[in-house]
Amino acid sequence: MMAWRALWQRAVQLLLPTHCAVCQQLCLDPLCAACAAQLDYIGDYRCVRCGRKRQTTFYSPDCGECYGQRLGIQRARSALVYSAVGRQLLHAYKFQGVTGAGQVLGGQLAGLLQPGWAKLYAEPELVVGYVIPVPLHAKRRRRRGFNQAELLAYRVAQAARTPCRPELLARITDTPSQVGLSANQRRVNVQGAFAVPERWQAAVAGQTCVVVDDLMTTGATLAACARALKAAKAKVVYGLTVFSTVRDVEPAEYPDFED
Ligand SMILES: [Zn+2]
Ligand SMILES: [Zn+2]
Repeated sequence: MMAWRALWQRAVQLLLPTHCAVCQQLCLDPLCAACAAQLDYIGDYRCVRCGRKRQTTFYSPDCGECYGQRLGIQRARSALVYSAVGRQLLHAYKFQGVTGAGQVLGGQLAGLLQPGWAKLYAEPELVVGYVIPVPLHAKRRRRRGFNQAELLAYRVAQAARTPCRPELLARITDTPSQVGLSANQRRVNVQGAFAVPERWQAAVAGQTCVVVDDLMTTGATLAACARALKAAKAKVVYGLTVFSTVRDVEPAEYPDFED
């Protein structure tokens, strides 16, 4: 049954070739083999707290960035480093609405979840109650037509068999874009931007939540979401993003968006 369906899908693809979301070459998959080979996987050598790819061989379970710092969330994990190809892929999905690019990104998160929540976050007893996307303000959502984090969160929920509940978190202020802001400005920018709606406060209380987004740069957005959920008495809040930046870079080289 599945084999026939896969075969049928392949046949349709042959009749309707698509373009690689990154290099635009005609190909059968949303991402061509050459571009896929350039994806930078984080793998197992990552910070136990923020989940970023480690850059040094100096031994410590958390990276230099996290050491002695408050992360604002319990732990975070990402599938890929925010490389040049990753950035193009995310742009295609987020700003051009290329569905194939979204499928590739969702597939990366689903792959990350294969071993389950407990293995992913290295917390043996971990049981997750809700998957919650970082919300967009209603105005921005209307303009873009969709919330890129919400589609990813649904894919995660499906892979992890955990309920996805976008309604549990709302963006209450239309914060300016994070473009060109320093780490500290980003923190201030999203402070108080999120809240759990009154009618969902009881649902959130005592629950372990995973907040899903496309990209983690400074982690300010995830931390602000965690603060809002904690204010509604959530038990623990984790972060999950497709991409994370490597924080050994100077602030001037930060990617130019995050939301
Ligand atoms: Zn390509
Ligand atoms: Zn870290």
